[in-house]
Amino acid sequence: MQKNNNCNIKRRKTREISIGKSKKQKILIGGNNPVAIQSMCTTKTEDWKATSEQIIALEKENCQIVRIAVPGKDAAKAIPKIKKYINIPLVADIHFDYKLALEAIKQGADKVRINPGNIGGKDNVREVIIAAKKAGIPLRLGINAGSLEEDIVKKYGRSCAQGMNESARRWVRFFEKQGFKNFVVSLKASDVIETVDAHKLFSKDFDYPLHLGITEAGLNLSGIVKSSVGIGALLLAGIGDTIRVSISGDAVKEVTVAKEILKSLGLYTGEPVIIACPTCGRTEIDLEKIATEIEQKTKFIKKPVKIAVMGCVVNGPGEARDADYAVCGGKKMGAIYKGGKLVKSVEEVKLVDEFMKMIKKDFRKNN
Ligand code: SF4
Repeated sequence: MQKNNNCNIKRRKTREISIGKSKKQKILIGGNNPVAIQSMCTTKTEDWKATSEQIIALEKENCQIVRIAVPGKDAAKAIPKIKKYINIPLVADIHFDYKLALEAIKQGADKVRINPGNIGGKDNVREVIIAAKKAGIPLRLGINAGSLEEDIVKKYGRSCAQGMNESARRWVRFFEKQGFKNFVVSLKASDVIETVDAHKLFSKDFDYPLHLGITEAGLNLSGIVKSSVGIGALLLAGIGDTIRVSISGDAVKEVTVAKEILKSLGLYTGEPVIIACPTCGRTEIDLEKIATEIEQKTKFIKKPVKIAVMGCVVNGPGEARDADYAVCGGKKMGAIYKGGKLVKSVEEVKLVDEFMKMIKKDFRKNN
């Protein structure tokens, strides 16, 4: 077990995998590397312009690995065009047709995700492994509760964590038999407990990096909640090397939520951590507006600086003491703190500007 420097979670040490061939697009996952954030494009991959634009928007939000659907040859052929424009590794997502995996590898995909349960048997999987080995790229062995082998479903009577684990073990052994260890594993179900249990069972015996996610998590709010609970529970147990939050719709939002999950556990160090009180009848300032403005304006700081925005003196001074910077509301005014010490009190209308003056002075030289 390794200890992460920025939090108290003891992360399970896994095998290191490199994704991306060019220096610009390469990322290391597993080993001692931070948990990486992934997302998946919602565009038609063959529309390489729209797909590239979406990936660039994802990169701006600090997405580190992106997956695209490859449901046909045209999508596979868009891979080299997309790769010209982007700065993060591109993963081809393949279902049913192993020949599309071979085509995606030929077209320069940095990694290919296959679900061995729906790709037509061992011979086809072997072909994909041979091609990946030859191209020097990793694969993701994606086990999905919805497509477990028939004998496993029969044995357990339904899809379940034990069945997912059994399927994963079976395929891991098959990959290893082909002399191939350059892969990541995912065990996804739409049920949170099933997903968490499957990962826990699997990670007892294997050190392959694990990609976490709750599949088909749902629309906006339910997707966020289910992903946060499932991914959070696993990260707290020290399990997980990459994560994807699944939300129907906006791919960029998936990355924003993923960052917040990691931040909440001290596993993301590239942005400030904002603490804001929920407001109540004692609130004397427009806290939501002020906290939102401060959050947006401090995004340029690429450090996990703790900033508290509090509505009144009940918990404000206490939080301010524990934060690197803080504002604490009073009657139409606010107090600004730095390192737990009161710097000044200003009118509410000047609060954000005065706060940002101090922040910019402190961080300009380092950014
Ligand atoms: Fe209410 Fe003050 Fe607590 Fe904010 S800090 S929730 S305003 S009591």
